[in-house]
This record gives sequence, structure tokens and C-alpha cells, in this order.
Amino acid sequence: MVQSGIIWEKLERKLKESGLSVRTIPSSAPSSTVGGWLAQSGAGYGSYEFGWGYESMEKARVVLPTGEIREFSGHELKKLIGTMGTTGIITEITLKVQKLEERKAVSASFSDASALKKAVETIRKKNIPLWSISFLNPEWADMKNKAPRKLHYGEIMDKDRPVLPVAYVCTFMYPASRDVSGLKEAIESADGTVLSEEIAKHETEEWFKSMKVKRLGPSFIPAEILVPLEKMDSAFEEIKKKIKLPVLTEGMVISDGNVVLLCFMRHSERSLLFNTAFALSLSILKIAEENGGRAYSSGLFSLPRKKCLWRQACCN
Ligand SMILES: Cc1cc2nc3c(=O)[nH]c(=O)nc-3n(C[C@H](O)[C@H](O)[C@H](O)COP(=O)(O)OP(=O)(O)OC[C@H]3O[C@@H](n4cnc5c(N)ncnc54)[C@H](O)[C@@H]3O)c2cc1C
Repeated sequence: MVQSGIIWEKLERKLKESGLSVRTIPSSAPSSTVGGWLAQSGAGYGSYEFGWGYESMEKARVVLPTGEIREFSGHELKKLIGTMGTTGIITEITLKVQKLEERKAVSASFSDASALKKAVETIRKKNIPLWSISFLNPEWADMKNKAPRKLHYGEIMDKDRPVLPVAYVCTFMYPASRDVSGLKEAIESADGTVLSEEIAKHETEEWFKSMKVKRLGPSFIPAEILVPLEKMDSAFEEIKKKIKLPVLTEGMVISDGNVVLLCFMRHSERSLLFNTAFALSLSILKIAEENGGRAYSSGLFSLPRKKCLWRQACCN
């Protein structure tokens, strides 16, 4: 059981001391809370095996707007998921955790989203027991190569930063004890190229530092969507066709066959055009909907699309 305000990174550090680890973790782990992930709902690293973040949460204690304190568990937990705190203030959460194990990673590049999709479909079909599948699109890989170097008193600290291919760069991660034979074959049968161990190590070390590329921004226009895996490539194609700015995208595959696409467009808040360009976020949301997907998390804009508000929680 944890208090809802604990930061994921801190929780993971604490669990490690007891030989344990969280099952799923968002890439915002250095600053986001366990309660925030339930209230906003989401998926993260580990979601290929363990599904949505809330699927690793057993129960939650909530202070309702009436002042009443209630526990939500099992099916009732749904009354909290993605409701952005409108059900009440979550104070405690009981989480499912796993044994801490050494993990291995393989990174591979794919020339387009269809090839990446094919590799993931083969992995799913063959039940290759991976823990996490996450990827960057070519625009993001390119920006990572161009991101400013880490300096300390003028000295470059990350001299051996590897150069990423400007392609879809996917990282497959699994506990070292598991038999994942068939993984490299699945990558190569989709015309993917297995990258160096140095890149795989670097990519996983960078998991929680994705906003580094924002230094090139200076601002980002975000659009977070969810699409079914079978439509992922057509969603990428549509985005390329309709959005004139480069769309940097980080993706995560979920156990239910959906893919989260966290999209960011570089812009400048100081520019007059920034406000109009923000509407591109809605264009990306429309592309997701046309491809059988939806907005990723509700937020205030999409809240009317959510049926589950606090009245349901109190009245049922
Ligand atoms: C760099 C970056 C990477 C990200 N990566 C991911 C990712 O991998 N997966 C993902 O799903 N999302 C991701 N996000 C989005 C976001 O960080 C997560 O959804 C995160 O879980 C939000 O948690 P938070 O603690 O920051 O909540 P906040 O942003 O502070 O709050 C989110 C909502 O939840 C409500 N809320 C927060 N705490 C409580 C509480 N205790 N009780 C009731 N309501 C509450 C708030 O009122 C608000 O409506 C990312 C964001 C960034 C900037």
C-alpha cells in the first residue's frame, strides 16, 4: 500500500531495497505520482506484459466530495480511472508488484511503421514473453541525435552518446531469465535491423529523459492518442500527410493490442502562431478516431466523453 502522492521513481527505488519492482511505470516517473496515474489513466513501460497502469492497482482509498471516505476495489476501481480526480481525492493505493529481476534489451530499427507493426504482430502471435515494447519515430530519433550535448563546466559529458538511425527505433525489453528465442527472427522477418547493444543500453537509460529534446523546442504542442496496432501504420501515414510540422512520437504497445502514441510538435510559445498551431493537436486526435482509436487520457477537453463522474461513484 502506498500514499497516492508518492513519485514513481522514488517508489521504484524503495521497492528495489526489498528485491521488488513495479509492474508498469510511466515515462514521466521522475515527477509523476501513483495517484495521478490512476486519476489520469495510462500505460507505460511494462504495459506490453501487464497492461494499463490501473491493472496493477488493487484498491484505492478516496475522500469523496461529500467528505465520506470510501474504498474502491475490483470492478469499482473503474469509477476512478481517467476521471481526473472528479470522483474524489485518492489518498492510498494498493499496488501489485513483481520480483526484481535483471532485464535485457534489444533495440532494432525499421524503415517504416508497417515493418514495425509486422514485427510486433509476429511477437504477439508467437507469444514471445517480453515485458515492454516501446519505440520512437524517425523524427524523434533525428531530434535525439541533434539534441545539445550534456555539459559540465563546458566539458562534454556524453561523448560516447550513440547516433541513432533516423528510422523507427524500437526497444524490446524482457527479464534476463526468460527464453525469448524468436525475437531476433521476428525483427528480421519484418525487415528490421537489430542495433548494437550500446544503443539498446543507451535507449533504456534514456527512458525517463524523453523531454531532453525539448531544449530544441523551445515549446512542444502535445497530442496523445491511442490506436489499435493494426491501424498504427495508417495513423502514422495520415499524420505525415496532414501535419506539416515534424511530429515527434514515442510509442508503447499495450497487452490489449493497442498502441499509445505520445506526439509532440516543436513550436514556440512566444510566436503568435502558437495558439493556432495548437489546433493541430485536435487534427491528430481526429486521425486517431478515424483509425479506430481515441484521445489517450481524458483531460478537461475530452472529459464530456467520459461517463463516469463522481455522482456515479457516490450513488451506486
Ligand atoms: C515527459 C512525459 C512523459 C510521460 N509519459 C507518460 C507515460 O509513459 N504514460 C502515461 O500514461 N502518461 C505519461 N505522461 C502523462 C502524465 O505524466 C501521466 O499521466 C502521469 O501519470 C500524471 O500523473 P501526475 O502525478 O503528474 O498527475 P497530475 O498531472 O498532477 O494530475 C493528473 C490529473 O489527476 C488528478 N489527480 C492527481 N493526483 C490525484 C489524487 N491523488 N486524487 C485525485 N485526483 C488526482 C489531477 O487533478 C489531474 O486532473 C507523460 C508526461 C510527460 C510530461
